[in-house]
Amino acid sequence: MAWDFETDPEFQAKLDWMESFVTEKVEPLGYLGIHPYDVTNPRRNELVRPLQQEVKDQGLWACHLGPELGGQGYGQVKLGLMNEIIGGAMFAPIVFGCQAPDTGNAEIIAHYGTPEQKERYLRPLLDNEIVSAFSMTEPQGGSDPTNFVTRAEQDGNHWKINGEKWFSTNGKWADFLIVMAVTDPDAPRHQRMSMFIVPIDTPGVEIVRNVGVYGQQDGSESYVRYTDVRVPADHLLGERGGAFAISQTRLGGGRVHHAMRTVGNCRKLLDRMSRRAVSRTTRTGTLADYQGVQFDIADSYIELEQFKLFVLKTAWAIDKYNDYRRVRKDIAAIKALMPKVYADIAKRCIHIHGSLGVSNEMPFVGGLIAAMVMGIADGPTEVHKVTVAKQHLKQYRDVKDPVFPDYSLLNRKALAMELYPDPVGEIADAAEMAV
Ligand SMILES: Cc1cc2nc3c(=O)[nH]c(=O)nc-3n(C[C@H](O)[C@H](O)[C@H](O)COP(=O)(O)OP(=O)(O)OC[C@H]3O[C@@H](n4cnc5c(N)ncnc54)[C@H](O)[C@@H]3O)c2cc1C
Repeated sequence: MAWDFETDPEFQAKLDWMESFVTEKVEPLGYLGIHPYDVTNPRRNELVRPLQQEVKDQGLWACHLGPELGGQGYGQVKLGLMNEIIGGAMFAPIVFGCQAPDTGNAEIIAHYGTPEQKERYLRPLLDNEIVSAFSMTEPQGGSDPTNFVTRAEQDGNHWKINGEKWFSTNGKWADFLIVMAVTDPDAPRHQRMSMFIVPIDTPGVEIVRNVGVYGQQDGSESYVRYTDVRVPADHLLGERGGAFAISQTRLGGGRVHHAMRTVGNCRKLLDRMSRRAVSRTTRTGTLADYQGVQFDIADSYIELEQFKLFVLKTAWAIDKYNDYRRVRKDIAAIKALMPKVYADIAKRCIHIHGSLGVSNEMPFVGGLIAAMVMGIADGPTEVHKVTVAKQHLKQYRDVKDPVFPDYSLLNRKALAMELYPDPVGEIADAAEMAV
């Protein structure tokens, strides 16, 4: 019997260590005005490096990677549980060596890169000596990659790239960008584009501006222009025309990790709203004495537990089948559900805190925007819902029911009477019978 909702004691001990390490040492870094990805800041490195070493000493560094790359080869369930803790602190992904978009970029270089690409880019990326960016979205088209127009043309033994990319996260600190560009405009829709590794200092790479989200003035979502950017032919990553297939490798596990980080954030919000509810007094008691507040807390708990179980079940299925395509429906489903659960819980947390909740002295409004970002970044919710529906409907592909299908109550009654011809007693009307 394999349904088990417990963590084994050995791994639970590691999670317990993580919980106190993140709360006591990592979370405070988020209040110092230093950016976790700014590897050029000596103070950041002074603070972060010893903590990264502690994580390595615990054997918890870069756990999404296989042992051949210095990770533990943990499956998605273990990674999920770790990410629930990591989600609660801004610096935790960097300290544990599992920060996006570097994780996804490392994953595809490990999978598709040549030995030279791995030596030059993967090794320092895995050690967080450098950070990277993924340059796919364009100003005129994000959700539909078939709209992308950035072009890469062969030019002797080089590729020449021209185009504009939008929201290449962390471009301003990146050592290199992975750029998706059209190499074969006449090929079938999903074979038109290829991926390239482009060092940030290549002539012609220009960061037009760094866009902020969460109300930031100076953000880290880079708007990048590529003008006659020449990279050697060996900077092609994977096969020519293979960009779509490569990007699917990149996103599968990452979506589960984001979902579990969202669980961690929601757990914090529920904790904060519960503390406020029992300590704030009004009229004849505390907020927690009022049924409306109790409903908010109950709904948050119920939604969070449902979501967490769904995410862990998806992680378990990935581990079991070792095939992202087979779990595509549920990966898309948790991606679509994540912003809703996060936004609902963040809204309730804000509301229960009243004026303090909407103020800039609390982090909750940031949570609401983070929830909205979850519904856009890595593809909008609608696109993922379409995937869920299409995958779900596949099993009904051959169904051609008549106008009165076999599940009409009259048909079911007729079938039942055929099977059991001599009923005892009165037969209820079809309409009274259960579906
Ligand atoms: C914080 C953040 C970080 C990001 N980081 C990166 C990164 O590192 N690299 C990168 O390349 N990109 C990145 N992105 C970009 C992200 O992938 C795109 O924003 C996303 O794919 C949506 O594209 P878009 O913004 O052009 O929206 P659009 O494609 O214009 O979509 C806008 C809205 O239109 C609707 N819509 C679109 N398509 C459909 C459809 N098929 N069915 C129904 N409704 C639809 C949805 O409501 C959607 O929200 C990031 C985005 C954010 C917010």
